[in-house]
Amino acid sequence: MLTKDDLTRYERQILYTSFGEKGQKRLKQSHVVVAGLGGLGCSTSLYLTCAGIGHITLVDCDCVELSNLNRQVLHYEEDVGEGKPFSAAQKLAKLNSSIEVTPVFKKITEHNARELIKGADLVIDGMDNFKTRFILNKACVAEGIPFIHGSIHGLFGEVTTIVPGKTPCLACIFPAVSHRQVSFPVFGVTPALIAILQVTEAIKLLAGFGSLLTGRMLYFNGETMDFTFRNLVKNPNCRVCGTKGV
Ligand SMILES: [Zn+2]
Repeated sequence: MLTKDDLTRYERQILYTSFGEKGQKRLKQSHVVVAGLGGLGCSTSLYLTCAGIGHITLVDCDCVELSNLNRQVLHYEEDVGEGKPFSAAQKLAKLNSSIEVTPVFKKITEHNARELIKGADLVIDGMDNFKTRFILNKACVAEGIPFIHGSIHGLFGEVTTIVPGKTPCLACIFPAVSHRQVSFPVFGVTPALIAILQVTEAIKLLAGFGSLLTGRMLYFNGETMDFTFRNLVKNPNCRVCGTKGV
């Protein structure tokens, strides 16, 4: 299943005992959907590509703007005006031509979310707004697909891994969140760091080793360099995953 080139390319991670060739094969057989190709999505898809995820679907409906370039590291000056999934897919194909990258230039809505993620092993949250995060969360719960949530603001960020049926879902964690879409401050380093934590979770979840940020939220405070945690509780009356939910 792993080619000679695979064994060479991924040599250093295959050396990690609890991962090994078995873990690499699992990554190669995996399909991950990256929802959003902004600061979080650029860095998550970059490291998923490095790690050798066999199939990555990139979903976004925006075009690259100059003001994106302080943090969205797969988009270059020459890409301004280009659709983000295409700009990202082009770079990823140059980095690793042995994997399949599918760009999808679409807005994620209540109507298409389940179709967009159907059959995937994992969905990565690279969104910049909670409205779409909740749509994805609901679709992931309905399809039984794990969802790695990441979110950032300025120098602050958070990560948790949601496994439908086992952990609280996003709607359990945030019963009510403002759906206002406004421009918020962000340094490039914050989504990069949160994205790397999301991919660390993705590799462990897909390859089946280590322990995950399930039922726990990790908070990063870049001003003080504090990493803190909060235990998350499932809401039995959750509108999405509770008995009264979907
Ligand atoms: Zn829930």
